[in-house]
Amino acid sequence: MKYKRILLKLSGEALMGTGSKSNIDPAVLEQYSAEIKAIKELGVEIAIVIGGGNIFRGGQAEALGIDRVQGDYMGMLATVINAMALQSALERHGMFTRLMAGIKMEQVCEPFIRRRAIRHLEKGRIVIFGAGIGNPYFTTDSTASLRAIEIQAGVVLKGTRVDGVYDKDPEKFPEAVRYHQLSFQEAYSKKLNIMDMTAFTLCQENKLPIIVFDMNKKGNLIRVVNGEDAGTLIS
Ligand code: UDP
Repeated sequence: MKYKRILLKLSGEALMGTGSKSNIDPAVLEQYSAEIKAIKELGVEIAIVIGGGNIFRGGQAEALGIDRVQGDYMGMLATVINAMALQSALERHGMFTRLMAGIKMEQVCEPFIRRRAIRHLEKGRIVIFGAGIGNPYFTTDSTASLRAIEIQAGVVLKGTRVDGVYDKDPEKFPEAVRYHQLSFQEAYSKKLNIMDMTAFTLCQENKLPIIVFDMNKKGNLIRVVNGEDAGTLIS
């Protein structure tokens, strides 16, 4: 394997699946668990950040007459719901996990303590970071970048619905071309939408590579971890 310790960013929206009527599709949880188990068996140390977009995003708040900051906290709580669902699925597949949150919630998870998170990883536990960084006006992408730096992960793996970064939206333009590799500067000057600017800049300034890849394709996560060309590497 190419990366010993990774931070996997999963979107909340993807958890909804396609056919499911619920916010959380059990088939997606199954698929994620199988993918994660495969890299766990390789001996990779795994930290995960999962979004909350399938339940609530801070950006929706104002249209609902809800204060923006309040909405952001609601979004952070949404990520905890997803994180708990994922935790349960991973444990059902025989993995050991710890959920650590950026907001104190003693009954359901541990508070985020950096040294403790690293210790969990060293002991082979999968650490899920819930509730973002615990502050409004951030996203789970910025959480992924920040936590990855804090735990000294070798890479941020951003699981999406598409198999990498394209020169234009591949869901709209069939002739779109996928980049295999990009520098941070190229990604920035081409205005490629990889992560929000806060998240992107954190990675760039700390020389933390990002790989954008398709999490829905079977066997892809293990390919990425093995250093195969299964997505777009930004470094
Ligand atoms: N959020 C926040 N601070 C954080 C992380 C998340 O305020 O550190 C809020 C923000 O409102 C965001 C919501 O939580 O819209 C859900 O996360 P996100 O939209 O990143 O989830 P995804 O789109 O990846 O499912």
